[in-house]
Amino acid sequence: MTDSSSPSKKRDFIRDIVEADMARGVFPATRFPPEPNGCLHIGHAKSICLNFGIAMENPGGRCNLRFDDTNPAAEDTEFVESIKEDVRWLGYDWEDRLFFASDYFERLFEFARDLIRKEKAYVCDLSDEDTRAYRGTLTEPGRNSPFRDRTVEENLDLFEKMRQGRFEDGARSLRAKIDMASPNLNMRDPVIYRIRKMAHHRTGDRWPIYPMYDFAHCLSDYIEEITHSLCTLEFEDHRPLYDWFLQELDLSPRPRQIEFARLNISRTVLSKRRLSLLVEKGIVDGWDDPRMPTLAGMRRRGYPPEAIRDFCGRIGVAKRDSVVDAELLEHCVRQDLNDRAKRVMGVLNPVRVTLVNYPHDQIEYLDCPSHPEDESMGSRKVPFSRNFYIERDDFMEEAPKKFFRLSPGREVRLRYAYYITCEDVVKDPSTGEIKEIRCVYDPETRGGWSKDGRKVRGTLHWVCADRFCPAPVRLYDRLFDVRDPGAEKDLEARVSPESLKILESCPVEESLGRARPGDFLQFERVGYFVADPEDSKEGRPVFNRTVTLRDSWAKMVKNKKK
Ligand code: ATP
Ligand code: MG
Repeated sequence: MTDSSSPSKKRDFIRDIVEADMARGVFPATRFPPEPNGCLHIGHAKSICLNFGIAMENPGGRCNLRFDDTNPAAEDTEFVESIKEDVRWLGYDWEDRLFFASDYFERLFEFARDLIRKEKAYVCDLSDEDTRAYRGTLTEPGRNSPFRDRTVEENLDLFEKMRQGRFEDGARSLRAKIDMASPNLNMRDPVIYRIRKMAHHRTGDRWPIYPMYDFAHCLSDYIEEITHSLCTLEFEDHRPLYDWFLQELDLSPRPRQIEFARLNISRTVLSKRRLSLLVEKGIVDGWDDPRMPTLAGMRRRGYPPEAIRDFCGRIGVAKRDSVVDAELLEHCVRQDLNDRAKRVMGVLNPVRVTLVNYPHDQIEYLDCPSHPEDESMGSRKVPFSRNFYIERDDFMEEAPKKFFRLSPGREVRLRYAYYITCEDVVKDPSTGEIKEIRCVYDPETRGGWSKDGRKVRGTLHWVCADRFCPAPVRLYDRLFDVRDPGAEKDLEARVSPESLKILESCPVEESLGRARPGDFLQFERVGYFVADPEDSKEGRPVFNRTVTLRDSWAKMVKNKKK
């Protein structure tokens, strides 16, 4: 398999390691190991693109999808299904390699017994609190547990009883016997099994004890014959422990753990804990709220998976943590949608225009190309009549010189229609609000071009007021309008009140009555939109704004160059 999304070959320190290993005949076997305790976010997309990407780029490569489901407390089958959907949507395929750490519980239990037999693990009766107190601190060594020197027989017996459910939660634990004076706290006799009498989403009540992440992860990698176990930097200090288990159990070939920097993006949060807080508090409308940085949210917002993959390729893979500008992601989305989205017209804040010299009761259908550069996207017929809507912002009664849109006495182009000139406005006598703009049109300019070569500066979009589709439109913006949303306790207060504005009914062109859920569109001059995949009904589309047309990333890059 090759990754057709990348024109030039990707390079980074992990791919260099993989290449060197390939030269020794080691074909990369990677895995993406989500814990099913929340929906995937764009940080996970970075890891997915890396793990599946490496497998796809190299002949003989493979990537597993493995659910790291060793903690029954927070995990759920619902998340398993949503994660599978998200990985598939992003464009990756685990084929027949779907695994669960819980499938290995029996083997992991055997590995633990092996450690006991090798005198490398013991059952400890200290409470959680005492275990912590014995561990010491960064500056002080820990103390040995009084249960550290139990015999192999006693340990095997107690561990078996733990498994049989003879003890209460927290009464005992199984710990690795390493070194209570190690400068690395992870090596101070870490707990590898704890008692949790809690049903598991896959194994039910079969197990009253559950393995800890560090123990389960390296052994799951070994069982699946993973070669390169890629994880984020916070696991760097766990690597000695990862290697210790494999070494003490005499296992080979040994997978190798390699750490890379996690993705952070400005103006949002990328941690499942914080995201679930937003969901639980009702600050957002579920995990798939289009303002969420989750893949489900982005899908609903109208981000194409190709744009997310492009973004993950551009940010690259490095060893140092950094914060990527939200603007870059939006830039990738715009670039992708520019090619893909059909052009249509919709008016968000309408004001009515009447063409006083256009025949009453006439409706003509004008041919409008669906893409300015790509003819293969075809065209559509858009109705035009004496009455239509334009954006209120596109008219100004007393306009400065540089206002190239509509104002009294000025001529502008209606996109794909005619040149029009404003003659008059009708206002509400009590409020002064403009009710109607009265214009004349030049019948010689059909299609939006004048035969006499007369030029106009402004081009406006419009929607026929006699035949249109009324549609709810949701204007989404960034969830936080500060670069760094800050501490967890401040999250709620920092959510931007501008992040969602709902317009109950906007006139959009008639053809959009046939929009299908998930269709990508550009409302000309307004922004990119998607027909909401959930709420759109046959003939009754609901539109979500994906992103505006203003490319602040391009501007930022330009300013930096100056
Ligand atoms: P969170 O911190 O959001 O709770 P997590 O690391 O606990 O995420 P997991 O389900 O354990 O979530 O992650 C699965 C994989 O995705 C892991 O290999 C993890 O390192 C990787 N991953 C998680 N967050 C990021 C991120 N922001 N950038 C890159 N990789 C990430
Ligand atoms: Mg995790």
